[in-house]
Amino acid sequence: MNLIQRIDALLPQTQCGKCGHPGCKPYAEGIARGEAINKCPPGGQETIAGLAQLLHLPVLDLDTSRGEAPAQIAYIREAECIGCTKCIQACPVDAIVGAAKLMHTVITDECTGCDLCVAPCPVDCIEMRALADVLPIVGGLAGTDDERRERDLKRDRARRRFEQRNARLQREEACKLAERLTRAKRAAAVETTQVNNHQAAQDAAIKQAKISVTMSRAQLHKSLKAFGHPPTFEQQSQLIMLQRQFEACEQALAALEANSAPPTTPPKSADLKRAKIQLAMRRAELKKAQAEQAGEQQLAALSAALNAAEQTLQDAEANTDA
Ligand code: SF4
Ligand code: SF4
Repeated sequence: MNLIQRIDALLPQTQCGKCGHPGCKPYAEGIARGEAINKCPPGGQETIAGLAQLLHLPVLDLDTSRGEAPAQIAYIREAECIGCTKCIQACPVDAIVGAAKLMHTVITDECTGCDLCVAPCPVDCIEMRALADVLPIVGGLAGTDDERRERDLKRDRARRRFEQRNARLQREEACKLAERLTRAKRAAAVETTQVNNHQAAQDAAIKQAKISVTMSRAQLHKSLKAFGHPPTFEQQSQLIMLQRQFEACEQALAALEANSAPPTTPPKSADLKRAKIQLAMRRAELKKAQAEQAGEQQLAALSAALNAAEQTLQDAEANTDA
């Protein structure tokens, strides 16, 4: 086990966030970087003593400004539950089961008592109750070696469930991202097809108009040659009509050619849109990693990805302006 894992093994794994980190592992990483060891109310003095021994630091008093963490468990008053799923989304260890518009319930053995599900409930049907026959996960309450072993197993399970949940959320986020990209690509393809269809129709109309000009001109010349000199009254009338037809065809061709100005450039606008989406996503990823106090290597990789996305957007904007 590396240092961070050994520190994390001493933390209670309620994943409550009272230490100011989004879970026990990020706090362990903070402690490894030199953060104070007395910020975990669920661990209490037992955790502080363990950390002090591991890191050869003086034992500190618990920072009580971070709240209390009694041995407790969430209880949902099921008759009042409206099945909104907000508590499921808040629970860091997936200890609540239920589905949209169906009653929810807490898996007693998996609940760490972090109370993060209480505030999001819109109908206040979740209450925290003192533990009766479940072994507390918080520090200071395991009296025997057996109880401590059992509590360690419970903490391991909570850590695993927390990590599995985070992995699932990341997978879901990646899926959403892929769907957004697919939609953007599809929209760009449709836009391109529409412009291509419009251009093809325009080209066909111009081609047809050119044929009409050629035919009406040929008809006029043929009649001029065929008629005698001077032409009869009927022939004159026919020549005037053919002349008008020829002029009308020429005007129609000129109008079509004037209207066929080059279309806007959808591929460029699609590139710009895609670059903007990518930049927003890179920003969100970096922000999330910073909030979760991710490792330096990960932050550096995300910063590099953000810079690359900014550059891509600048290039796309320059292309669109060109
Ligand atoms: S139990 Fe809560 S306060 Fe303690 S380390 Fe874990 S998240 Fe932080
Ligand atoms: S059910 Fe509530 S109190 Fe229990 S672990 Fe989940 S969020 Fe925390």
